[in-house]
Amino acid sequence: MIEFHDVQKYYGDYHALRNINLTIDAGETVVLIGPSGSGKSTLIRTINGLERIEEGQLIVNGQDLANKKTDMNRIRKNVGMVFQHFNLYANKTILENIMLAPRIVLKKDEAANKKLAMDLLDRVGLADQASKMPAQLSGGQQQRIAIARSLAMEPKALLFDEPTSALDPEMIDDVLNVMKDIARDSSMTMLVVTHEMGFAREVANRVIFMADGQILEDDSKETFFDGQPSNERARQFLGKII
Ligand code: ATP
Ligand code: MG
Repeated sequence: MIEFHDVQKYYGDYHALRNINLTIDAGETVVLIGPSGSGKSTLIRTINGLERIEEGQLIVNGQDLANKKTDMNRIRKNVGMVFQHFNLYANKTILENIMLAPRIVLKKDEAANKKLAMDLLDRVGLADQASKMPAQLSGGQQQRIAIARSLAMEPKALLFDEPTSALDPEMIDDVLNVMKDIARDSSMTMLVVTHEMGFAREVANRVIFMADGQILEDDSKETFFDGQPSNERARQFLGKII
C-alpha cells in the first residue's frame, strides 16, 4: 500500500529524511516513534503529498508521488490524515464537517452521505452531537469527529500525527479506543505517530523508531516489546517512554 525506496527529503540544506526504505502492507497498523525533530511528521506528510520528496520513489496505492504528473487529489481521497490539532471547520456543524468532503470531492448522494456520517458519529460515540458546533465539544470529542470525518471519505489508509498529544489525559482513552476499533478492522492501513505504547502493544503490527531523519529500527511488535530493539538509541528511547 505504501512503499518508500531510498527516499530523501530536504528543507533547504537540511536533510530531513535520510534514505528511507519502508513498506507498509494493506491492512497493517504501524506505530512510528522517535525524539522530537527526528522526522516523524515529515515522513507521514510525504505520504499524502503535504511534503514533496527530492529523491527516491514513494509509491502510495500504486502511484509514484515522486512523479510530478501524479494526481495528488486521487492520493488524498485514498489516504486520510488526522492531526494533533483537529482542524475542524469552526463555522460548520459536526454533521456538516463530516459530510462536506464526500459531497464536494466524491460528489456523494446527499442521503447516502448523511447516513454514512450518522453511522460514523455513532461509531465514535457521538451520535447525539451532530448539530453542535466544534467549539461546543471537548478536545477529545473534536478529535473523534476529526477521525469520523476522515473515515467518511472511505480511505484505504489513515495517517495519524500525534492524535492524542494535545488532549487532557482523561480524554485520551476515548480517542485511542476509536483508533483501536479502526485498527482491528483489517481492511484499513494505519500509520500512527504516537508515544502511547499501550495502543502499540494492543493493536500495532510493527513499531518503527526514527532518529535524525533515519529509520533505525523496524520491528514486529513482539520483537520490540518482548525482545529488545537491537538499536541502542531505540532501547534508550523505549526506556524513557514506557
Ligand atoms: P516532533 O516530535 O517535535 O513533532 P518530528 O519527529 O515530527 O518532531 P519533523 O516535524 O518531521 O519532526 O521535523 C524534522 C526536522 O525537520 C526538524 O529538525 C525540523 O526543524 C525540520 N523541519 C520540519 N518542517 C520544516 C520546514 N517546513 N522547514 C524547514 N525545516 C523543517
Ligand atoms: Mg511531529
